[in-house]
Amino acid sequence: MVAPMPGSSWPSGFFEAATALLGNRFTRDSDVLEAYGRDWTKVFTAAPSAVAFTETTDEVAALLKLCHSFDVAVVPSGGRTGLAGGAVAAHGEVVLSLERMRRIDPVDPLARTVRCQAGAVTAAVHEHCAEAGLTWPVDFASAGQSQIGGNIATNAGGVRVVRYGLTRQWVLGLEVVTMAGDVLQLNGDLEKNNTGFDLRQLFIGSEGTLGIITAATLKLAPLPGASRVALLAVQDLRAGLSVFLSARQQVGFELLAFEYLTDECLQLVLKELGTPHPLPSPAPAYVLVEIEIPTATESEAAEAWLGELFERELVVDGVLGASVAQSEELWAYRERISETLSKTGFLHKNDVSVPVRRLADFVDDMHAEFTQRYPHFDIYFFGHVGDGNLHVNVMKPAEMPQADFLEQCHGTDQVLFELINRHRGSISAEHGIGLLKKEFLGYSRGPIELALFRSIKRAFDPKGLLNPGKVFDFAPGDHS
Ligand SMILES: Cc1cc2nc3c(=O)[nH]c(=O)nc-3n(C[C@H](O)[C@H](O)[C@H](O)COP(=O)(O)OP(=O)(O)OC[C@H]3O[C@@H](n4cnc5c(N)ncnc54)[C@H](O)[C@@H]3O)c2cc1C
Repeated sequence: MVAPMPGSSWPSGFFEAATALLGNRFTRDSDVLEAYGRDWTKVFTAAPSAVAFTETTDEVAALLKLCHSFDVAVVPSGGRTGLAGGAVAAHGEVVLSLERMRRIDPVDPLARTVRCQAGAVTAAVHEHCAEAGLTWPVDFASAGQSQIGGNIATNAGGVRVVRYGLTRQWVLGLEVVTMAGDVLQLNGDLEKNNTGFDLRQLFIGSEGTLGIITAATLKLAPLPGASRVALLAVQDLRAGLSVFLSARQQVGFELLAFEYLTDECLQLVLKELGTPHPLPSPAPAYVLVEIEIPTATESEAAEAWLGELFERELVVDGVLGASVAQSEELWAYRERISETLSKTGFLHKNDVSVPVRRLADFVDDMHAEFTQRYPHFDIYFFGHVGDGNLHVNVMKPAEMPQADFLEQCHGTDQVLFELINRHRGSISAEHGIGLLKKEFLGYSRGPIELALFRSIKRAFDPKGLLNPGKVFDFAPGDHS
């Protein structure tokens, strides 16, 4: 439900000025407020005062200038697939949706770049670039809805990080509008530019707290060649990581993805899909491996490696996708986990990382702590383990009231983050901090770092009007 009309407390003249700028693209329609006031987390109450649909960078600049002069807070909104509450407007803010700014320019094959507006949908960029044999190699299950601006603002990761790295590595230039309405062109289309601080990098991963990204020049990679996908049964995460080490030590082929899922996760997805188990008998866990095999030589090397895994008894069983359709089916087992878990019950999610060499010890410690302290909770975990990244999901027992569950999850978070701290990890690997993990940021960032965060915020948004309350709290007069 949308809370009652927070915009009624706007300074006089603001509504008229915003409407004069955007016409009916500045709306207070209650269905629009409800839809655009929240993201995928769905745990926060949507209470925006209006939603603005800009179509040009000039309009973004004019709207921000207006909000700045009237002291009205703004929440940037992309595809709203975020999992940390970063795009939630819960306190009467104006939501600025970039969805009408989705132009994608022709690919530049010489520079291997593409320029697009921030509202371009990630999958649309993939399709556009594929025609030129190139790809923006940031990819995940929500790519059909997420936007380039949102991907950049969250420094998104995904299933190809093990091969290509994070979004940060694939952004050449940014156009950003500050809260005062200044338009910054950061790094243009330059590969090389050593002229002082690289402000572009500050905006990547800033979760909409420093400026609105309106356009970007993206770096592109050659589209990967043919690939094979295998689902390999393993005894546990430690065995899965031995498979990863073995893959890393091979020279004949490249890994495109290396994912981990437990049998509990797979069983839920199979039930949802109504399909039988892909293996004759279930194993405790699985790794999903995608290997690039552009030529017969790589294909032979990959097959020899898979055979060796069985000989060394690192894997106990497995299935190799024999066709594109079968490979997609294997991928669906991994990619549908998030959605299926959300449909199954009420979840408390975490997205953590530790150095990959510490991952197995971290998971052993986590199991020991959770079994001792929270034996009544079912924990589902899976993730991009090649990057040291695990998604840890706690399912609410059916009979437990939601409020009690959330209170107990506060405790599970503390246990988890103490462990993360001990294993020198991060409380948010790729989803960001937003509203959801703000309280725990101190487990990953020290007091001096947080003071520097506030100094940077003050430099770009001294009044604290842009995505207020996200990532860390900031008060305009606060010089701590
Ligand atoms: C099924 C599923 C699977 C997912 N898998 C992954 C995964 O594997 N890896 C991963 O990293 N994430 C994953 N996500 C999370 C999410 O899809 C990413 O964080 C994505 O990058 C968010 O993009 P968005 O456009 O939806 O942003 P939104 O949710 O709209 O916004 C995210 C943040 O960016 C800010 N923002 C949005 N647009 C702009 C802009 N133009 N300028 C400034 N700030 C802006 C918002 O204010 C907010 O703080 C998954 C989500 C789902 C639902």
